Amino acid sequence: MFIVDAHLDLSMNALEWNRDLRESVFEIRRMEEGMIDKPDRAKGTVCFPEMREGNIGLCVATLIGRYVKKGSSLPGWNSPEQAWAQTQGQLAWYKAMEESGEMVQIKDTASLESHLKLWKNDDDKKKPLGYVLSLEGADSIIDMSYLEKAYKNGLRAIGPAHYGPGTYAQGTDATGGIGIKGRELLTEMENLNMILDATHLCDDSFRESMDHFNGAVWASHSNCRAFVNHNRQFTDDQIKELIDRGAVIGGALDAWMMVPNWERGISTPEGRNVTMEILIDNMDHICQLAGNSKHVGIGTDLDGAFGKEQCPHDLDTIADLQMIPELLKKHGYNSEDINNIMHNNWIQFLRKNLK
Ligand SMILES: [Zn+2]
Repeated sequence: MFIVDAHLDLSMNALEWNRDLRESVFEIRRMEEGMIDKPDRAKGTVCFPEMREGNIGLCVATLIGRYVKKGSSLPGWNSPEQAWAQTQGQLAWYKAMEESGEMVQIKDTASLESHLKLWKNDDDKKKPLGYVLSLEGADSIIDMSYLEKAYKNGLRAIGPAHYGPGTYAQGTDATGGIGIKGRELLTEMENLNMILDATHLCDDSFRESMDHFNGAVWASHSNCRAFVNHNRQFTDDQIKELIDRGAVIGGALDAWMMVPNWERGISTPEGRNVTMEILIDNMDHICQLAGNSKHVGIGTDLDGAFGKEQCPHDLDTIADLQMIPELLKKHGYNSEDINNIMHNNWIQFLRKNLK
């Protein structure tokens, strides 16, 4: 079954983890054996061959570059200009992948439709992977003229905040509103017809963003606070508001967002019994709040600075997302619901909201 994954940090993996995603994930793991610079070395789950194996023909792929003010303990660049340059390096990698036929950028309905047709009809085993370009944390947008540049480069969605305080909004584990700069960003995004990604907005910034932004909203990789009581997760009221706005919420596979009190580097997926079933529980919770299956999708965040040490133990590679239809069926979901969740909700959203 065709799958859309609405959150993959592909270029971050290529440039910061030095992973050539054209290699098999097993080869990448082998190459990383013995490396200790990052906790997820030799534990990756994502590569192009496994995405094709799992029929994940379309994803939302990110640019990430954080600017940190003096005194912050978060990792990041010391100026927005450096953060911008970081995202432009990441963009250059996506462009190189396009030139080598591995990827294709989806930036309007025409490119979306022709891509979907290709994946439906073509038996070619090495079809290009479609990607919608998104920016996770907007600190790298130096001023609004850079937002226009970014749009011209294909950027179609922005999550104004990531972890901690940001220039345009406050993110996970931070507090506070979006300020004048945040309002200016949202207005410009609306003018450019860009999608607002509500993921990572802290409660205050979520509230203000919803009030100030009149365009299309999605939450690319977010789970429910009903299961894990943390500000990174959405409350039922926030989920209901997103549903009212026509949003689709992508279920994420980071273990700490799936079971409460996860301790990084100490808890294990086996020890805490983190399984794909928990993703289904999150999806089901949102479907129950909506009264239908039209607002849930997949947004795994796989290899988003974590690997097999911190994701469901019944998933080995991203290709295993193909187990989701069977799990949904077990929970009483019919084939239309399953299609909605696996791909259709994201596709309909893009059809409606890409120019
Ligand atoms: Zn994220």
